[in-house]
Amino acid sequence: MYKSASQFMIGGAGAGGRFNPLVARPVYVTHGQGSRFWDVDGKEYIDFFTGSGANFLGHAHPAITAAVQKALEIGIICNGETRHHSQLAEMICDAVPCAEKVRFQNSGTEATMGAIRIARAYTGRPKILKFEGHFHGMHDYLWFNCATEAAPLRADGTVTPVADSDGMPDAIADMVVVVPFNDCDAFDRAIEAHHRDLAAVIMEPISYNQGCIPADAGFARHIRELCSDNAIVLIFDEVLSGFRMCRGGGQEYLGVTPDMCTLAKALGGGVPISAVCGTTEIMSVLSPLGRTVMSGTYTGHLTAVLGAIACQTELATPGFYEHIDKLAECLYSGISDILARKGIPGVVQGIGARFGLYLGVEGPVTNYREATRCDREMEVQFLRGCLERGVYLHDYGHRTPMHHGFSAQHTLEDIAQTLSVIEDVFGEIASAS
Ligand code: PLP
Repeated sequence: MYKSASQFMIGGAGAGGRFNPLVARPVYVTHGQGSRFWDVDGKEYIDFFTGSGANFLGHAHPAITAAVQKALEIGIICNGETRHHSQLAEMICDAVPCAEKVRFQNSGTEATMGAIRIARAYTGRPKILKFEGHFHGMHDYLWFNCATEAAPLRADGTVTPVADSDGMPDAIADMVVVVPFNDCDAFDRAIEAHHRDLAAVIMEPISYNQGCIPADAGFARHIRELCSDNAIVLIFDEVLSGFRMCRGGGQEYLGVTPDMCTLAKALGGGVPISAVCGTTEIMSVLSPLGRTVMSGTYTGHLTAVLGAIACQTELATPGFYEHIDKLAECLYSGISDILARKGIPGVVQGIGARFGLYLGVEGPVTNYREATRCDREMEVQFLRGCLERGVYLHDYGHRTPMHHGFSAQHTLEDIAQTLSVIEDVFGEIASAS
């Protein structure tokens, strides 16, 4: 398959991120069901990739399948408004603290691009402050310092912006201010130096894109305060953290409400949908009230909207997060236990249904610099050992550990089976070293 796919697609993949460095090709999948998927060789895997976090309800969830089917029966409506759109917007406003108004998009990348346009329009300022290691999608405006050497800190509290892809115009680097995460002193200096030009501060409240690094509660409150004092729009990028541990996402978890947020992935449980949310005052710059444009043929596609309503209905069912918490506790404490027993240095950090595993380091990992110090060689051994034994944790081939996670259809039996595989793999690593 790899050979034939490579004839027509670079790397034999429809998307670069699906190339898995562990096997030097993509993993070709036939189907998924519940907590598992099967590859073209018929091999079964317990899935801890879960569609990069999108398949929060697991594979082929009956409620989502039925909702998409219903949308197809209604007729594939592109660029048309239905009562279902406002129903979904209301559900989001009900769950997410900062959401007073909602605008739909298709992907996380589009959502963050739209959010910063709104912030620029609202403030009339050009620059955006982002944090080292935080990922906000693949557009040119924010894809800086997620995959580079941690740069030296400068006197103004910032680091040199380094583009994470070729093809990004140099001039765009002047529009971004990059600051280390969880560092109040660096943030203060950056605000002092750049506040007049800053439209927004954007952050992952829990940075799953470096495994799982939450904002320290004091740091998050401090950012909130300084953004308010300087009339800077605070945006939480909750594409991954949204709905992951509670319906209100990272902002409810941290108890800090931003001015705007972006949502995707667990919003729809696998259907392609994202949303930009915020206060009515800020969102009112959007057309048709204002002249800030954010629209598109496929935005709020009916299959996605109905799928997302089904997903949100499941999330609001009593007991949903109790199940997530039970699995999380069992998995994360189980892995920590194994690491300790095998004498392998490492730490697992998990919040809700997603986690990061930092091998070769001790103690909490609180920022990108610390995350880049992990033992990549051991990580590869670990991921490969799991893959061979039918537990799929994706290798993103990244400089820092990335996120893994489970779905609502995973069970305690899946976790027990996974822990026994992990025990085996770490046993092998320990005896080899
Ligand atoms: N923002 C965050 C926090 C993400 O984790 C991602 C994707 O993983 C994105 C934005 C981009 O989302 P998408 O891949 O849907 O464009």
